[in-house]
Amino acid sequence: MKQKIAKCAWCGNKGPKNFHARISWENLDSSWYKCAKCGSLMILPLPSKKEITKVYENDYLTQRHQPHPGVDCRIRYAKEYRPTVFAEYALSLEDVHVKKKETKSILDFGCADGVFLEFCKDYFNPGTKLYGTDLSKDLLAQARKNGWNVFPLEETSKVTMKFDLITLWDVIEHVKDPPAVLAMLKKMLAPKGRIFLETPRAGLLGELYGDKWPHLLPVQHIGLASKEGVEKLAERMGLAIDSYRTFGANAPSSHVPQPYKGVFDKLAKKLEFGDVQILTLVQKK
Ligand SMILES: [Zn+2]
Repeated sequence: MKQKIAKCAWCGNKGPKNFHARISWENLDSSWYKCAKCGSLMILPLPSKKEITKVYENDYLTQRHQPHPGVDCRIRYAKEYRPTVFAEYALSLEDVHVKKKETKSILDFGCADGVFLEFCKDYFNPGTKLYGTDLSKDLLAQARKNGWNVFPLEETSKVTMKFDLITLWDVIEHVKDPPAVLAMLKKMLAPKGRIFLETPRAGLLGELYGDKWPHLLPVQHIGLASKEGVEKLAERMGLAIDSYRTFGANAPSSHVPQPYKGVFDKLAKKLEFGDVQILTLVQKK
């Protein structure tokens, strides 16, 4: 079996990683490997900065970047899809007990066009301070045009403000160095602040789907953590998991028709085998 030596960004294990799948779409091509220790999946070798930037600067929200239909961002960011996305935001925040009253400042890390900030404006109490940042200059320009207070990613380390809630919706799996990002964000937390992560979860369902698992995206998704992977990363960063849930069976409704999809999604949540995980991280006491 093909192997590569690399450090697992999640659990830190340095042993060889076994080949898992090769995913290609047009000129994007990535090989996925699996950590034998924690089961997280990672692209090896890591895509270059140039390769990554090219994907997000090239009209990201209106292009298709991957072979799987389930996670097409053209649908996700469409105006008519907003109610679905907003309902998901509300349910996820409730699931991990994010309290409206205690949340007075929010940073959305990887804010894209500001879709989550748009949700926050009505969901949280008036006066809640809302900020966003993103890697993509195009997306930041769109977010600014939409009226949001956003700053470039490279300026994040200069921000002195502390936040009650820092959110990463479908972001940490796009990041080359999750420990470095969490270390930076940890410093930006208010004393009782929380980091919220939503990210695919490598595990049972991902294994069942094999190379058809919709989260294995070339170049864009770089690392897909297992539950153990996020637990180990939190521990290594001096963070504690405050709340943890999984949901979704990910299969798009085009693959699994209703009512089966609804039932399957509910089961995935109840039995904790969903392939999306949401969690909040707090500073370790
Ligand atoms: Zn690992």
